[in-house]
Amino acid sequence: MPSKGSQTPPDSGENGFLAQFSASDEQREWFSPAPPGYQKGRTKYVVVIGTVMSGLGKGIFNSSLAKLLQDKGLAVAPIKMEGYLNVDSGTLNPFRHGEVFVLSDGLETDMDLGTYERILDQDLSRKNFITAGQIYSEILDRERRGGFLGRDVQMIPHVTGTVKLKLRQLAMTGGPNGAPADVVFVEVGGTAGDYENGFYIEALRELAFEEGPESTCFVALTYILEPATLGEQKSKAAQLGIKRLMESGVQPHVIACRATNPVNEKVMQKIGMFSNVPMKRIFSMHDRESIYVIPDAMRTSGLDREILSILGLHDRVDVTREDIARRAWNDFSAKLASPRSRRVKIGVMGKYASLRDAYASIDKAIEHCGIHLNAAVELHWLDTSALDSAAKVRDTLRDMDGIIVPGGFGQRGVEGKIRCVEHARTTKLPFLGICLGFQMAVIEYARNVLGLADANSTEFDPATPNAVISELPDQKKLEGIVGGTMRLGGQDVALEAETFAAQLYGATKVRERFRHRYEVEPAFIDRLTSAGLHFSGKHPTQPIMQVLELAVGDHPCFIAAQFHPELTSRPLHPQPLFMGLVAAALARKHPDAARDPLIARWLHAPAACATA
Ligand code: GLN
Repeated sequence: MPSKGSQTPPDSGENGFLAQFSASDEQREWFSPAPPGYQKGRTKYVVVIGTVMSGLGKGIFNSSLAKLLQDKGLAVAPIKMEGYLNVDSGTLNPFRHGEVFVLSDGLETDMDLGTYERILDQDLSRKNFITAGQIYSEILDRERRGGFLGRDVQMIPHVTGTVKLKLRQLAMTGGPNGAPADVVFVEVGGTAGDYENGFYIEALRELAFEEGPESTCFVALTYILEPATLGEQKSKAAQLGIKRLMESGVQPHVIACRATNPVNEKVMQKIGMFSNVPMKRIFSMHDRESIYVIPDAMRTSGLDREILSILGLHDRVDVTREDIARRAWNDFSAKLASPRSRRVKIGVMGKYASLRDAYASIDKAIEHCGIHLNAAVELHWLDTSALDSAAKVRDTLRDMDGIIVPGGFGQRGVEGKIRCVEHARTTKLPFLGICLGFQMAVIEYARNVLGLADANSTEFDPATPNAVISELPDQKKLEGIVGGTMRLGGQDVALEAETFAAQLYGATKVRERFRHRYEVEPAFIDRLTSAGLHFSGKHPTQPIMQVLELAVGDHPCFIAAQFHPELTSRPLHPQPLFMGLVAAALARKHPDAARDPLIARWLHAPAACATA
């Protein structure tokens, strides 16, 4: 370990944020580093802070607002700042926190990042997500290596300085393809007044001061109560919440009021009066029929214009681009509102059946397909833990037009999932397997077609003689470490031409996101293939199987992926494997659907040609 007086500032943290400023920065009394070349005032900041309560939809609000500015041609970079001490979200239980969303660079983050990626149609990275745990561990790591040159390391300025550094770093490279961002959109986790996020709010207050006038726009997202017994809206909780924010030295520029019903003028006047915000900068963000209409509702109320004025951004707007983007989005949300003629039921065979948030991206991916195929898709969240016989499976799936066997970890519900795959295969029920669901399909085939009755994954039976699914070689070296150790993030998948997978994607080389520890055991690939299980997607160079399917004559839609296709579905670009599943379910249920060109394009066709 270097001594305290070490002259070489050590690197810190794997992405080296703290390595970007020189020793002289550290020796100054005030610690407010900026990356080399950072220009104050070039990038603007919009900061959304919740008051009154959590669960206001800060992520949806912030991403919709970011989208409005992105539509105008501005480069936007969102960031979510979490107050918790976990370094990432990978070890959080989906029961408590919703699904783990994996970014292309492999960061395991929370489901809100999924909201940002979907609404902005922009890939994010570890720069767009920070936790208190990440910040503290980077600072402590640097301190242990002698990186603060004899100074006492403090909440202010070192922790707040590190937060500012991360924001400025994001400003310089957070736009699409690493370009500088015009606007960074900050979402502070929790609510004003929480201990956990106090240092973020302080850092943002300092940032606004240092960056100067017109640099930062603070938005207080608050909540208007409407107790049923009173039948009227009450503003006191919102006033107190905003006051709490102002006690930290932050004067909001804009107030957005979440509420069940449109917020009345009297309430807005009161709030404005007590928080020094003019009426034109107070907005009603009441519940809407869908999140997709929020951007347009914000635009109609003039919220985007006010943000541009506060930040002095009017001259960076590209009006033509905005018109085109707006039309594309509104076409999509109009389809959402239009009546859907065909209805299908898809079962999601999971173990977190009571909690939709645990499969939030599957929910969204299916929603996107329903809108594009003009169909009402009903999702049924079914728990496989109790499915201990073929009869129970038949009964449970009686009304389903297709099933998804999603990803998962641990033994519970696994045998029930395998029975569901068997049912789907033998009754030609459309099937999409995801990650664990892909592995279940391999085990089912090995057991029931190859006749290997004890075939299993070493995850569930480490001693099985027929380990058709086994640990990836790299994973074997990592035993005992839990966080951040899986095969994670975006990887290339080579699809074989003229397969269902290639037909659906319309390509033979795609990139998808992974999160797994186990894979198809290479020693069994030949036997499975000769028995008819076709691996149509593989790692481009290694024997890692990534997509499997049955031939067109054997099944209308039996397809599974080792990756998580749900993570890359976007409103305007629905995910091809999900489109295949929903189209097949529609064709099964509605005899005329196969003649509808909108649907036929996604049906498993003999010798379909892949267009590279
Ligand atoms: N448990 C399996 C594995 O680690 C599947 C993981 C998943 O479904 N995300 O490979």
